[in-house]
Amino acid sequence: MADKQPDFIPKRPMHHRRNFTGLTSKEADMERSKWPKETIDLWNRLYKKDAADIETIQKSIVHHVTTTLARAAYNMDNFTAYQAVALSARDRLIAQWNETQGQLSKADPKRVYYLSLEFLLGRSMDNALLNLGLKDVYAKGIGQLGFRMEDVVESESDAALGNGNLGRLAACYMDSLATLEYPAWGYGLRYNYGIFQQRIIEGYQAEFPDYWLNFDNPWELPRLDISIPIYFAGHVHSFQDEYGVTRHKWVPGQSVQAIAYDVPIPGYDTENCNNIRLWRSKPTRVFDLTSFNEGNYEKSVEDATQAEKITSVLYPNDNTMAGKELRLKQQYFWTAASLHDIVRRFKKSQRDWSDFPEQVAIQLNDTHPTLAIVELQRILVDEEQLNWDDAWEIVTRTFAFTNHTVLPEAMEKWSVPMFEYLLPRHLQIVFDINLFFLQKVEKRFPNDRELLKRMSIIEEAQPQQIRMAHLAVVGSHKVNGVAALHSNLIRDTIFKDFVEYYGSDKFVNVTNGITSRRWLNQANHKLSELITETLGSDAWIKDLDLLKGLNKKVDDKVFQKKWMAIKRANKVRLAELIKERCGIEVSPDALFDVQVKRIHEYKRQFMNILAVIHRYRTIKSLTPAQKANVQPRVVIFGGKAAPGYYVAKLVIKLINSVANVVNQDPAVGDLLKVVFIPDYNVSLAEVIVPASDISQHISTAGTEASGTSNMKFVLNGGLILGTMDGANIEILEEIGEDNIFIFGCLAHEVEDLRYAQRYRGVPMDPALQGVLAAIEKGTFEDPKIFQPLISTLTIGKDYYLISADFASYLRANQAVDAAYKDQDEWVKKSIRCTANMGKFSSDRSVKEYADNIWHIKPFKVVDNQQID
Ligand SMILES: *Cc1c(COP(=O)(O)O)cnc(C)c1O
Repeated sequence: MADKQPDFIPKRPMHHRRNFTGLTSKEADMERSKWPKETIDLWNRLYKKDAADIETIQKSIVHHVTTTLARAAYNMDNFTAYQAVALSARDRLIAQWNETQGQLSKADPKRVYYLSLEFLLGRSMDNALLNLGLKDVYAKGIGQLGFRMEDVVESESDAALGNGNLGRLAACYMDSLATLEYPAWGYGLRYNYGIFQQRIIEGYQAEFPDYWLNFDNPWELPRLDISIPIYFAGHVHSFQDEYGVTRHKWVPGQSVQAIAYDVPIPGYDTENCNNIRLWRSKPTRVFDLTSFNEGNYEKSVEDATQAEKITSVLYPNDNTMAGKELRLKQQYFWTAASLHDIVRRFKKSQRDWSDFPEQVAIQLNDTHPTLAIVELQRILVDEEQLNWDDAWEIVTRTFAFTNHTVLPEAMEKWSVPMFEYLLPRHLQIVFDINLFFLQKVEKRFPNDRELLKRMSIIEEAQPQQIRMAHLAVVGSHKVNGVAALHSNLIRDTIFKDFVEYYGSDKFVNVTNGITSRRWLNQANHKLSELITETLGSDAWIKDLDLLKGLNKKVDDKVFQKKWMAIKRANKVRLAELIKERCGIEVSPDALFDVQVKRIHEYKRQFMNILAVIHRYRTIKSLTPAQKANVQPRVVIFGGKAAPGYYVAKLVIKLINSVANVVNQDPAVGDLLKVVFIPDYNVSLAEVIVPASDISQHISTAGTEASGTSNMKFVLNGGLILGTMDGANIEILEEIGEDNIFIFGCLAHEVEDLRYAQRYRGVPMDPALQGVLAAIEKGTFEDPKIFQPLISTLTIGKDYYLISADFASYLRANQAVDAAYKDQDEWVKKSIRCTANMGKFSSDRSVKEYADNIWHIKPFKVVDNQQID
């Protein structure tokens, strides 16, 4: 039987148009070899990088003001100045980007592709100028032109294409990959709307769209020539090929286009400039021909709108699974476009398919990109006609998977009927992967049907569900957790059967890290300068272990004074921001206590505000003489709740209601202030983190995989109050137990404690009872509002163990107050914190991935822009 394709399916081209980017390097060399020598010489003469002197920089700024932006000195504001500086810096980035990508194409080393549905980049300008080493000269240049660099930097809006940890981690890793000169690309989606803007209205969170692209984005290069057709739905056509082998062909029913937008990622102090390629969905030019042929114009337009919808919005859920069809479409659209691009690049080298894993490593940031495993298998088997086993060998050697959570509500599962409708051929492949996998398990462990059921990629539910975490484990050669405790937990719980089957070598740990470039050199530049001056070199920015040198200065009075002066200046800056955004006056002499992160029950902001109520009630009960001994404290909250997460949103309401009462109570005065800063994002974090004295990372043990803001705070000389969870444990090991406040139950105790609360009726902590009684009495607005929240502790049996940890939490808070009063000791703790954080550099994390998982090496880009 002939494989007759319906004629409306466009042939899948490797390239839409053969332009410059479509030439293989061999073809390009051929083209140039025909050029006369004068032409080549002329190119080489003009091909030089711009000089970095102040006049060249000012000329380029003014050039962009008057031409690109069509403005003049008399109608320029800070935002125009920002745009002009950005465009000028962007010219330099593009030159580096081009040079890097050109040299990489030629040398063709093994590359890593980091697939992440989120990149929480924040602002780019300050980072780009610092990494290029041009911040000072640009600041001077724009200063002489009449603008303050701080105002210019502040005019940029955040690129907020992420929710929290997972997206920010991807951004830190991209910075480290570029700085360490690894050949790496990120792949993600270019959402029209990033994470929503949060405003607080009558104490409640309200969500507004994030119009981040309204004023154009100078940090991206639209590659309108790179457009890849992506298909959905339809059916599968099975046929026998000329050798009598049964083959399958997907006959799709819908198509859209993926357009590439490139975001250059400059490394620090290097010529290397990596890339994040973000895909945007567009309707196919010949959109839905069936309707079109039927003359159904309206339906065609509707379909085009649907196509654009795919990349319109980032899902605002952190650690919860939405299960929406559009989300599955996003995931396939993104993985298919990225793989198409990766495969095209590989094919340019005309190597054998068996070389693919020697040339390509693909890292899956959580299960979101797991479909890439299925898509590569489909390409190899259906399109490249490899046999199944050879293809599967290539696939599993290529992929590695990072798990980010053990929370059951975060585990991605897709309903089989929905999946079948959108991706019929992929469903067959998933079932085949599962069948062959379970056959092997059965051979090793015969007659254990329960085991097969537990390990299956398909969950037998009504309807059946595809367990993406199982698929990711089966399709990868390495699986990692993101902190030591978390990696052990996944080996013992969700992946226990898989560890027994594959052996423990497949399951490794890579503790998360943060980039010192953004989180110290940029966010706390004064401290960065003091460190450089003290250590006699700025080498620590690329080798964070060198901070250990600060340990020698712990007892140095002069150094201590400078250290504390910088902390105070940072607190003054934050106090001004709080005054401006919240209208609340706080004293920079109080202890600044910060909890900023996504609002989630497992992170226990609820426990924090309950303890604040306890503190408030305690202060109210004191005599004036006793009050004189109270350590004044400002408790600062920030963070977004998923719009559909009712209980988390009530926590925000409770914080604001408590703040309203406490901040206006004359009996309390400056002893306690409560602040909720709206719209927490990366650029706010850059102001908040350097200003904290103590920050809270108080998740129920075993629930926070790693956390990364804990690292940011400690790196900036802020102490932490935390549980034995995630990376807190490793931070404790590095900085020593005298410099951290730890409380609460341990991960291995959680199960028994939950059981006891559920079935043995353990009485609630008495202090907590008092606090709840105060809420129920109406101390903070109508208590009915908060009833569902209180119910999580009573009817809900306090799943996150707030009552069990409450007493030790209050004690730890008292220990913080006492320690802070002893400023001579506090400053030493603060210095020791920063000095011993070397391990938590994302450079260290990325090196571990490169050496143990990706097997890639740095590639040195040379600064010799020449045609040869
Ligand atoms: C670092 C960071 C996070 C992660 O915070 P955790 O406390 O580790 O959950 C979330 N949001 C932003 C804006 C961040 O910069």
